[in-house]
Amino acid sequence: MSLSSKDRSSPNRSSKARAAGLAHLRDKGLKRGDAIPLPLTMASIFHSPGDSTGFHQYGRFSNPTWTAVEEMLGHLEDAPCVGFPSGMAAISAVLFGLVKAGDRILLSSDGYPTTRLVAERLRTFGVEFDVRPTASFLDGGFDGYRLVYAETPANPGLDICDIAAVAKAVHAAGGLFVVDNTTMTPFGQRPLDLGADIVLAADTKAPNGHSDVLFGHVASRDPEIVTAIQDWRKTTGSIPSSFDAWLLHRGLETLELRFERMCDNAELIAPRLKAHPAVRSIRFPGLPDDPSHNLARVQMERFGFLISFVLDSEEKAEDFIQGCALIHSATSFGGVHTCAERRTKRGDAVPPGFVRLAVGCEPGEELWQAIEAALDGLGD
Ligand code: PLP
Repeated sequence: MSLSSKDRSSPNRSSKARAAGLAHLRDKGLKRGDAIPLPLTMASIFHSPGDSTGFHQYGRFSNPTWTAVEEMLGHLEDAPCVGFPSGMAAISAVLFGLVKAGDRILLSSDGYPTTRLVAERLRTFGVEFDVRPTASFLDGGFDGYRLVYAETPANPGLDICDIAAVAKAVHAAGGLFVVDNTTMTPFGQRPLDLGADIVLAADTKAPNGHSDVLFGHVASRDPEIVTAIQDWRKTTGSIPSSFDAWLLHRGLETLELRFERMCDNAELIAPRLKAHPAVRSIRFPGLPDDPSHNLARVQMERFGFLISFVLDSEEKAEDFIQGCALIHSATSFGGVHTCAERRTKRGDAVPPGFVRLAVGCEPGEELWQAIEAALDGLGD
């Protein structure tokens, strides 16, 4: 059994973003004999005689390889984009760069926990923060918040919130709305089109996709926000390496293909997992009875590649992950190889047998057979 996919033949917002990317490639201004792949520029200084405005000058200010990856990410987001050396560096740039003493911010309580640790640090500088479950993010309104930050779907529980409704309510209250789109990528969900002021993501995950780079980005259609984030990077030196930018550029060229395959695999596997007697409960926005499903159908282009499910105990969860021939026991997600992790290991507030499965690009049927064999092998 597989899920009926959303109607992908109808034009949607991501196909517009892809067309923009292609137009950009046609306009690269290559000279005859230039390399077709992106050259890697490793340089801390650039030839800058006289008035050097408008050129690369110093490696902390800009680099042609970052510029190329930022342009590509910018075409996918349909907004100017600033690159960072990790997802957390991008998150820190937004939280430290856009708030000041006396401000109050609101975060998802069930999103990536390190984001809340950054907010804890902000307390030292006179910024207060509150948290709220993603599933009921609208409840309580947004009065008094300078910045509201949602992760949707939230990692690892996969609850979601209504991005358009939250954006409207936050704006009515005079705040900025930020979405961490790491679990979806611009091909799966387009927060800026839905009204968010800022989208950010850990490109460490699916955008790079080969589990060999950490990277992050911040994108916004508000020029003042983009300038503030660029200034933060230039001043604090939170800059990506050009080699990492080059690797990410290469990963981005296949993001759409990998993302589609991972989402197809997840849609194949989730209903089968749900039907397996060893699985006590499961979360995947693509399952018709999942609490996130109806809203996911409206605001997401695909249902993503993360599946969370609960086995009887911590031991069973560990045995399943170790025992499955096609699953790597590793943290993180979005790479070509399927990975899984027992999330109590990282301190998430989830049951002991909770497994986050990050579905990869393996052939779907073979992957399911390996998963089924590992579940069958758990015994009673
Ligand atoms: N945002 C989310 C949703 C994540 O899951 C992660 C990492 O797992 C991050 C941000 C941080 O990214 P990085 O590890 O690249 O700093």
